[in-house]
Amino acid sequence: SGWESGHDGWWMTVVTLAMLGSAYIAFGHATRRDIHAEEVETLETISLGGALVHRSDLDTGSTQHLRGDVFGITGYTPEEWISLDHRTLVHPDDIDTFWLWPDEVEPNTMIDRVGRYRRADGSWVWLRDVSRVQIDRRGHRTIRGIVIDVTESEEHRIELARLARLDLLTGLPNRHALHEELETRLGGGDPFVLLLLDLDRFKEVNDTLGHEAGDDVLRIIAARLGEGLCPGDLLARIGGDEFAMVIEGLLSPSEIEAHVERISAACSAPVTVHNIELALSQSCGIAHSTSVADRATLMRHADIAMYSAKRAAISHRVFDSSLEQSSTMQLSLSADLTAAIERREIELYYQPKIDMRTGRIVGAEGLVRWRHPDFGLLSPAGFLELALLSESSNDLLRSTLDQAVEMIRCTSDIGRPIPIAANIAFASIRDIGFSDDLDELVAHHGVAPGLLTLEFTENDVDRPSDETVAVVNRLSARGFKISIDDFGTGHSSLERLLTLQVDELKIDRIFVRRVLEDGLERKIIQTIVDLAARLGARVVAEGVETDEQADALTDIGCPVAQGFLFAPALPAEEFIELVRHDAAHGSLVPS
Ligand code: C2E
Ligand code: CA
Ligand code: CA
Repeated sequence: SGWESGHDGWWMTVVTLAMLGSAYIAFGHATRRDIHAEEVETLETISLGGALVHRSDLDTGSTQHLRGDVFGITGYTPEEWISLDHRTLVHPDDIDTFWLWPDEVEPNTMIDRVGRYRRADGSWVWLRDVSRVQIDRRGHRTIRGIVIDVTESEEHRIELARLARLDLLTGLPNRHALHEELETRLGGGDPFVLLLLDLDRFKEVNDTLGHEAGDDVLRIIAARLGEGLCPGDLLARIGGDEFAMVIEGLLSPSEIEAHVERISAACSAPVTVHNIELALSQSCGIAHSTSVADRATLMRHADIAMYSAKRAAISHRVFDSSLEQSSTMQLSLSADLTAAIERREIELYYQPKIDMRTGRIVGAEGLVRWRHPDFGLLSPAGFLELALLSESSNDLLRSTLDQAVEMIRCTSDIGRPIPIAANIAFASIRDIGFSDDLDELVAHHGVAPGLLTLEFTENDVDRPSDETVAVVNRLSARGFKISIDDFGTGHSSLERLLTLQVDELKIDRIFVRRVLEDGLERKIIQTIVDLAARLGARVVAEGVETDEQADALTDIGCPVAQGFLFAPALPAEEFIELVRHDAAHGSLVPS
């Protein structure tokens, strides 16, 4: 019967054979009767656990052996069960994963599958079959194993999966479910519109009336928003006061207007909580699925459009590419940077500094990345400028320094301590406590301050205040290394620079790019190299992309470089691998 090709097991092989095997060995003197008793007990135990043990011929499908509580599990007698065509019993949705096609089965493979079977009373039972296909002495393929009723755990699992996709406050799908839906729809290719909706001034409701009142408002609005949906549309709650709608079709501007009007009406109709009547408004950002290839881009587009609408204090805006150029995008991102730091989405990547004469790693620069849940991996260009102006700038600095010091600790632990540089804006260190914090940080990780480099950009150095100079020099006195980034691009007076204790000058890649030509750029590099020698500082060339550039720089007297020729900025794990590789090739002392 179909059951036979559909099922056969392996647990039986392991459990029974192992038990019987050990029984033979341990009870070598035992009688046949004892062994038989052992076998009976094994089978009884298995059927007590709600399992079936089976063996059948894979090619003919005939059952050779079936034990266990068939009736309890399936509602059929063993005879009925054997005679049924099992293909008609398997749930249609599970046929693909559950049905076994004899032609496709290799001997000795382990089979482990789960699927629903229809019981005699019409209800479904989840069965797990763990089997193995074997070839017997006569060359017949048999499948043998054990089938377990896993209905309870499967239902539990399904319920958990359902809850993981649900917003518990409103009963709507959550962000996770939205992402899945978007991916499915983008894969399917039918056009749709993604609409993100953020309630205006909802925070005030929460702050003045309390969270419970805020929750009530959200539930009411959610219910209203759901009322006008068509069957193929989706409404999700994706954050505090943020909702998303997926609307089927290629919508015209007037159709979009109509949707937005309905949404505005749902939000602005009065809500009464604690005897107070509220009317809310919203901002919507809209993006068409037809202009993007992936979910992250679609989300980003709708998000940018929403922020743009919010900033312009209008009800909605449809994304177009001009918005992406504007600072709207940065604004939309900086809004949740603090939460992102807490969720550990801000990651430092590491780009090695290489001594080109030896090919060894002599340091690395930490470059910040944001592993954004909706938008993918973001470079500093996408969020840094506004982040530095926002309230989160201190958290960002703290997080990058933490990671940099952790990396020093980590490379020290593998026996190859690598000096790590962190980028710091001068404005961030105005805080007089900064050097104490840093002392504490390195002490906490048991790291020598000399292994931490602080990279400041020259534009920042441009007229650093007396206080800044004092803080930098104090940091230097405490043993931290000071590096000046993008040297030569700013307008800092040399005089001013000479009041700083500098350990490293970095040559910007706009000069490196033209080092092969006998022009101004090359002269500037030469000058920086000479100046560094006088200051007792090291020079590092940035953005080295070709062997020719590397050779020219070495000739000029700048043997340390950073660039795609050697490696891009790498995630921590990959950087550590690189360091291990480097460590295996000798023992150049890091400078
Ligand atoms: P930067 O400090 O001048 O960093 C060097 C930039 O050049 C990095 O871009 C790096 O990935 C890129 N780069 C490296 N090698 C090559 C190459 O061979 N060719 C080319 N074309 N580019 C190369 P990234 O990571 O996008 O960083 C951009 C800027 O963002 C940095 O410029 C730095 O000023 C700032 N930044 C990065 N991380 C932080 C941070 O944690 N804090 C602060 N305040 N600023 C940061
Ligand atoms: Ca830098
Ligand atoms: Ca630089």
